Amino acid sequence: MKAKNCIVGAGLAGLTLAERLANVRGESVLLIDRRNHIGGNVYDYDDEGILVHQYGTHIFHSNEQKVWQYVNIFSRFYPYMHEVKALVDGSFVPVPFNLNSLFTLFPAAMAQEIESMLLQSFEYGSKVSILELQKHPKLAFLSQFIYEKIFLHYTLKQWQCTPQELDSSVFERVPVSISRDNRYFQDRFQGIPMQGYTKMCEKMIANPLITLKLECDYKDIADCIECERIFYSGAIDEFFDYELGELPYRSLHFDFMRFEREYFQSGAVINYPNNYDFTRIGEYKYFLDSKTPHSIVSFEYPKAWHRGEERYYPVPNEQSAAIYQAYARKANELKNVHFIGRLGEYRYYDMDKVIARALSVFENLA
Ligand code: FAD
Ligand code: UDP
Repeated sequence: MKAKNCIVGAGLAGLTLAERLANVRGESVLLIDRRNHIGGNVYDYDDEGILVHQYGTHIFHSNEQKVWQYVNIFSRFYPYMHEVKALVDGSFVPVPFNLNSLFTLFPAAMAQEIESMLLQSFEYGSKVSILELQKHPKLAFLSQFIYEKIFLHYTLKQWQCTPQELDSSVFERVPVSISRDNRYFQDRFQGIPMQGYTKMCEKMIANPLITLKLECDYKDIADCIECERIFYSGAIDEFFDYELGELPYRSLHFDFMRFEREYFQSGAVINYPNNYDFTRIGEYKYFLDSKTPHSIVSFEYPKAWHRGEERYYPVPNEQSAAIYQAYARKANELKNVHFIGRLGEYRYYDMDKVIARALSVFENLA
């Protein structure tokens, strides 16, 4: 198999590189994926009028104008602002925890007292990680409450360890918000591709210079590929046959259910930090406000990752960082192989960051 570029993985990282190399540089690309579809984890499909995200709810959000402009070349976006509620002490409260959550869970006088203590330490509108909040002795009651009711049990389910055993960046994703803003993300640009992610991905690679091969594992064809560059968005430890050790990952199981009624729950995502074995339930019709008599939901169950299964999350902690750095040093020695994406760079990237990195890898090519 011959092409100027070989790209392993047809997720957003691989698709972005394929698109740029073919459309901007006019170069040939062999794009392979071992799954039977493109899109990687953003793949979605139509179920009688509802676009279902096969690998869990995906909301595009970014503060980077450049990335927003880039994705808008391939799709218009439905202006959706994501909100999440969590079941805490029998009430559904906004997550990230904010002043509305506080006033829902506590009697008014108590909530007011806690609010004024918070505003003595933090500006209105600021965000503070739970690990930072715990450093304020005057706010010990509140931080202990949020830690216990929002973070601890969710994290035990999701990562099978306590928050202290993970990199603090994991919790900076969902900081306590000293505001009444119920949105999950405050990014300037947010939305869902109007025709879905898969259609957007198809447009990205609609160029005859790109040859797509699905159900094709890199290891099975590595010996017969002739190319000048490889862009690899699979797992970096797998690429090197685990010779420096296995990187840890977390996996997921999605239990999809169909309900013959208009809605199952009150919003697109409801978290269950303290109850059940699943962490959250996603209801897909909310994203594009689809009007159907039925609804599709997924129950998301975290699980350990074993070789041969889908890797959903890198596990950010000190040990994994050390193993990754060792692989990254090896990777640097390979001049024609570029590691990209969540698995190639072993980073807990959101979609916009994956695209931004892929664009920068493209711009830095000689
Ligand atoms: P992937 O999408 O994982 O693509 C990698 C591809 O490489 C896969 O298709 C895989 O099959 C293929 N591959 C791997 N190894 C090989 C091999 N050896 N040979 C051939 N093919 C191979 N981000 C957001 O911005 N907003 C969200 O709301 C959001 N929600 C998420 C929810 C969940 C449950 C998860 C798991 C992630 C979520 N993300 C979200 C993150 C988002 O999914 C990723 O940032 C993005 O999809 C990563 O793209 P990628 O190309 O790096 O990797
Ligand atoms: N988290 C939590 N409770 C919540 C939401 C998030 O403990 O209600 C923690 C948990 O450890 C989770 C992490 O914050 O894995 C990041 O949350 P995010 O929603 O960003 O996870 P993702 O959507 O990437 O799975």
